[in-house]
Amino acid sequence: MKKIVKLLLVAIFLSGGGPVLADHHWEGVAYQRVPLGANVYAMIAEGGNIAVAIGEDGTFLVDDQFAPLTRKLLWEIEQLGGGTPRFLINTHWHFDHTGGNENLGAAGTLIVAHDNVRQMLSVDNRLSAFNRDIKALTSDGLPVITFSRDTSFHMNGETIRVFHVSNAHTDGDAVVHFQNANVIHAGDVWFNGFYPFIDVEHGGSLAGMLEASNQIIALSDEQTKIIPGHGPVGNLEELVHYRDMLSQVLTEMRTLKSQGKSPQEIISQQPIKSLDQEWGDGFLTAEKWLEIIYNGLEAP
Ligand SMILES: [Zn+2]
Repeated sequence: MKKIVKLLLVAIFLSGGGPVLADHHWEGVAYQRVPLGANVYAMIAEGGNIAVAIGEDGTFLVDDQFAPLTRKLLWEIEQLGGGTPRFLINTHWHFDHTGGNENLGAAGTLIVAHDNVRQMLSVDNRLSAFNRDIKALTSDGLPVITFSRDTSFHMNGETIRVFHVSNAHTDGDAVVHFQNANVIHAGDVWFNGFYPFIDVEHGGSLAGMLEASNQIIALSDEQTKIIPGHGPVGNLEELVHYRDMLSQVLTEMRTLKSQGKSPQEIISQQPIKSLDQEWGDGFLTAEKWLEIIYNGLEAP
């Protein structure tokens, strides 16, 4: 499973832009539907994992992967008894979570996100860690309702609480909690099984990832199903294990940075070597990861 995740992530991040993404392998991409109870499903294909909740008040969607997959996604939702989503939450601005926005906005879906997500999607942008330029979305693809801290949806007998976690994976992350179904979509706060990408260029930080993980843990019990941004659907025990890894790395990195060590010195010292076998098998090697998070640490 991890190998597949790695290949997909590498393919997506290295493919470098819209035109390349537009014409490669989309026809062959298939959705995996994971039923999580109470008409909530995780939908896993390429890009960030999706959550969908279906019921008589309408379809509620969390994230939408890539534009070429929208038709397939809508077909899958139809098979589950749903329709064109009434609401779409973007957990953050990244292109592998918002690629379907323009299609869905044009189809009448109301897009909802943190204030900073709309801001980021409104302008041309760049993700230096992946040497990638990202074009602003047209108005169809922009969130029409934004929030600064949290908001709640009441539909299909469900209470869906959406809340901002600050300076975690980006500066505009939202976590989505289906309270009755006991399902949480963690966005890219959680990469299940491997070192997470942290967008420190746009306000993300390791300390924020740790804090956000703790917030999700506080809402979870043994039965909670937690959808990570990437990787398989997991549970509290697995999230705690990941949180402990983040905590260990943060402590280690703070110590080294406070000693005045440069990123290169830290990398050559291999301070998290003991973790690599378990966590370095995703798409980020320890070297790349340490380099990314170094700048997201507090000043020494
Ligand atoms: Zn992301």
